[in-house]
Amino acid sequence: MASWFPLRRGGERSELPPEIYLSVVDSLYSDGRSLFVGSLAASAGTLISAFRTAEPALFACAVGIAILAAVRALDMRAYWRKRQGLDATTARPWENRYILGATAYVGLLGAWFFIVFAFTSDQFTELLCLAVTIAYMVGISGRNFGSDRLVTLQIVAASLPMAAGLLLSGNVDYVILALFLAPFSITLRSISNRLRKTLLDAVMTARQNTQLAERFDTALNNMPHGLGMFDERRRLLVANHRLAELFGLGAGDRRGALPGELFAECVEADTMPAAEAVHLTAAFESRLSGETADRLLIDTAAGRTLDLAFQPMESGGSVVLIEDVTERRAAETKINHLARFDALTGLPNRTNLRDQMDRVLAAARRSGETCAVLFLDLDEFKQVNDTLGHPCGDQLLCAVADRLRLLVRQSDVVGRFGGDEFMILQYPVTGTEQVVALADRIVERIGAPYEIDGHELVIGASLGIALAPRDGLDADVLSKNADMALYRAKAEGRRGWRFFEIEMDVKARARRSLEIDLRNAMASDAFTIYYQPLVNLKTKRISTCEALLRWPHPDRGMISPAEFIPVAEEMGLIVEIGTRVLHKACAEAMNWPDDVRVAVNLSPIQFRRGNVADAVRAALESSGLPPNRLEVEITESVLLQDTEHTGVQLRQLRDLGIRISLDDFGTGYSSLSYLHSFPLHKVKIDRSFLHDIGDSDRSLTLLRGVARLSAALGMSVAIEGVETKEQLAVIAGEVSVDEVQGFLFSKPKPADELRQLLYATPIFVGKVA
Ligand code: C2E
Ligand code: CA
Ligand code: CA
Repeated sequence: MASWFPLRRGGERSELPPEIYLSVVDSLYSDGRSLFVGSLAASAGTLISAFRTAEPALFACAVGIAILAAVRALDMRAYWRKRQGLDATTARPWENRYILGATAYVGLLGAWFFIVFAFTSDQFTELLCLAVTIAYMVGISGRNFGSDRLVTLQIVAASLPMAAGLLLSGNVDYVILALFLAPFSITLRSISNRLRKTLLDAVMTARQNTQLAERFDTALNNMPHGLGMFDERRRLLVANHRLAELFGLGAGDRRGALPGELFAECVEADTMPAAEAVHLTAAFESRLSGETADRLLIDTAAGRTLDLAFQPMESGGSVVLIEDVTERRAAETKINHLARFDALTGLPNRTNLRDQMDRVLAAARRSGETCAVLFLDLDEFKQVNDTLGHPCGDQLLCAVADRLRLLVRQSDVVGRFGGDEFMILQYPVTGTEQVVALADRIVERIGAPYEIDGHELVIGASLGIALAPRDGLDADVLSKNADMALYRAKAEGRRGWRFFEIEMDVKARARRSLEIDLRNAMASDAFTIYYQPLVNLKTKRISTCEALLRWPHPDRGMISPAEFIPVAEEMGLIVEIGTRVLHKACAEAMNWPDDVRVAVNLSPIQFRRGNVADAVRAALESSGLPPNRLEVEITESVLLQDTEHTGVQLRQLRDLGIRISLDDFGTGYSSLSYLHSFPLHKVKIDRSFLHDIGDSDRSLTLLRGVARLSAALGMSVAIEGVETKEQLAVIAGEVSVDEVQGFLFSKPKPADELRQLLYATPIFVGKVA
């Protein structure tokens, strides 16, 4: 497109841009009137000179000029008829024709001049001829400056015969006149060149301006934003189509409009309410004047949101950029909603609840009113997920959320913490009975059956409640306290509520310090192991010693495993602790007589999180203890959990050649099916069976039944917790019992004491008898 840039002025016409070349050709054909007048003058002149001199050649000239003038006039008409369909290439022959005609015409004038000066001597004729010819020549530069070629040809065609005529006139004065022809011709040519340059410059500049304006226009009307430029008197200078489009207006020239007029047009077009237009005009003008610097947001009647940015210009006035931000704002609103609301139930989420809590608590602090924080946890929600699937669980959560929404007042807040945990902020509260009433309503309503996917579901709710200001005025403290109360409500059997009590906090603190101590004890390996013998009823000798963990605490003395093992299990520390017990106990058993086994208790967590078989193998290897001298004691809860994985581990243990005992039998489900389906060697009947054995036949019957059944299934039977001779006497009469364990024989003892016992008192004759 820009191949012709930069233009070499005065150069070849082919280098001109097509439309400019055409306008140059136009300029040649444009001045018909001057051609006509000039031709008339020349024909008249030649005719007069012919008559005065009676020179036949001059008649020929006159006729020639008249004919040529007529031909050129016709050519000119033809040109303008064809002009419409011409382009740079098809205009070329027209230019050539014009040059031919014009040159021939000047040539005839030159011939006239030559004949007059060379062959006649009539002074008037000479004067007339000179005047007409010079006048015509002067006209050349004015008429034909568009074509350098033509001007040059015409000057040459005129001045050569003129010079020849003057030189041959025989008049010395005319010879001098001939000399002036040269500078005259040169000047003529340079005038025409200058005119051409001026014309081309003007044409080019205009062309460039038009082009620039067109491009600017295109850019302006193709941008996605609306744009308006206002002058310092707040009048619209320029606007693109998009501006009108965004305001819901049709096309039209709005230059000079004031913002108020623009908005008035919107009101007329029903794209803006009248009241809005008044308010917007003020806001718009204050920004145009620079009083207000921020952006302006406009909501249109079509439901779009426009964002207007104002950019002041140096010359005064402003450029206003209008962007349609509807989608962006919708997305922002959505993101904001997602960040603050639970996607499943639509309730406020944790972050949101936290803000609401801060807000409500600040209000409560100011007014001195009470506010209740209720933490809600569904009872055994996991089971719904596990048995009916997550989609069902999700529906249940939504149903719970819906019921909660209906249970609270306008001023209360319900939110979801995640999982099956919800929170209710009750505010304001006049007294605890109001909180109790809400808690009761919640427990009752949430506990009512649900109909989900054709299933009738029932789920309980437990609530923990903390009150502000009584239990704290800080969101963190209140949450923590409500959580403790919830924990207690759960522990107390669910489907109920508990208020926070300070004693819960004391317990929680104790628990936390126990956790810290436990970690330290792990790090310093502060645990030790006691051993308690099991006596074989037939041989009356110690057959097995059970390893029982002890924790000598620097401040609290010996802490019972019953107290810290559950904590270690919850913390996951039991896996490491259990492994250490295995190693130490196996190593200690190497100090005992060969026929005494060691029994080690294993936690369900060790089966779940650790690899028990690997730990046992390592303990046997490092101690050198033969596998048949190791027993592991597991409880029913081990067998209850994921039977596949547990079964594999139990079989691995059996394959190692060690013995497996079922501990505390009779306290849990006491399902006899376990006795059959797992590779068990021994059943240890829990000491609770012995409690009322003296005065209840029922207990004894049960004990006997279990003992006999176990024996029948090929397992040995041990009874623990034997404290009195009476108990022993009853048991001793039962043939299916193999071993006994209890304080009657020995309390759990430190390793060295037990060793003494093993070697010093091998037979419990006296006691058993
Ligand atoms: P358990 O396995 O049933 O251990 C027997 C518990 O009964 C021991 O309590 C023992 O001292 C106690 N006991 C023994 N004979 C009598 C008696 O005649 N009368 C009464 N009243 N009690 C008797 P301990 O040592 O306090 O252990 C409590 C529980 O801690 C154990 O119950 C066991 O479940 C757990 N435990 C102990 N050591 C470990 C261990 O190394 N690993 C794991 N996972 N658990 C352990
Ligand atoms: Ca045990
Ligand atoms: Ca036991």
